[in-house]
Amino acid sequence: MPMPIASHERAQMERSLRERYEDVKARIAAAARRIGRAPEDILLVAVTKYASIDLVRALVELGHVDLGESRLQALQQRVPQMDEFLGRHRQMSTARDVHPPAKVRWHMIGHLQRNKVKKLLPLVRLVHSVDSLRLAEEIQNHAGRLEDPVEVLVQVNVTGEKQKYGVAPAAARHLVEQIETMMNMRVRGLMCIAEDVVDPIAIRHAFQLCAELFDDIRHHNHCGERFNILSMGMTNDFEIAIECGANVVRVGSAIFGERRTDVPEDDEA
Ligand SMILES: *Cc1c(COP(=O)(O)O)cnc(C)c1O
Repeated sequence: MPMPIASHERAQMERSLRERYEDVKARIAAAARRIGRAPEDILLVAVTKYASIDLVRALVELGHVDLGESRLQALQQRVPQMDEFLGRHRQMSTARDVHPPAKVRWHMIGHLQRNKVKKLLPLVRLVHSVDSLRLAEEIQNHAGRLEDPVEVLVQVNVTGEKQKYGVAPAAARHLVEQIETMMNMRVRGLMCIAEDVVDPIAIRHAFQLCAELFDDIRHHNHCGERFNILSMGMTNDFEIAIECGANVVRVGSAIFGERRTDVPEDDEA
């Protein structure tokens, strides 16, 4: 049994969450302004994989909408938990000054195995991590049963690291074109993860490579306006990513606090 949280501890926890969240939003806005973009052009996906459900609820009470998870199992727990929480909020005439959105949007940001596609699709709004034709075909096969086409990003391995998922940069455009022929899918852009290094020049180089690919595909393809999402940047590098053209950033620890080590990274970890 987890220990119940005392109310003064909860208040403390919510205060520091709010401070961290406001700080991340301010840093996003500043980075956007540095390159002449409006802060509203950048979507913040709050990555909840290391956060307790209490903290996730507290963030949503601050009005936050977009949440990211990297594992099917976590989504299977948390999507219904959040639905129930928001449903309760709608019925309560609450005295507390909180304004949760009517709905949240879940993003799948982790590596996806084909045998998990069927269960995953009804839970998420955007899959950031399509990294092979076989995975795309599996999504296409199951997406026919859903109301709307499934929206996806193609994950590009911009650093060439063997342990990283994603298609090689040279193969990205071809995979995008193949997905475009699939009736039940909509390819909305690209996603990448920079190397976990301290060297800002190497990080910038990786993000620039992905941004160039993104522009190249956008200008040569027929998908037009719909191919407009560039998802890159995490806690350690989201400002560099925005400066390189990211319009979606995926931030976990800077919002929720230090990474926990007892939570698996993704389903294969
Ligand atoms: C965990 C994770 C993030 C967030 O990581 P932080 O460094 O905690 O911000 C972003 N993107 C992906 C793909 C992740 O797995």
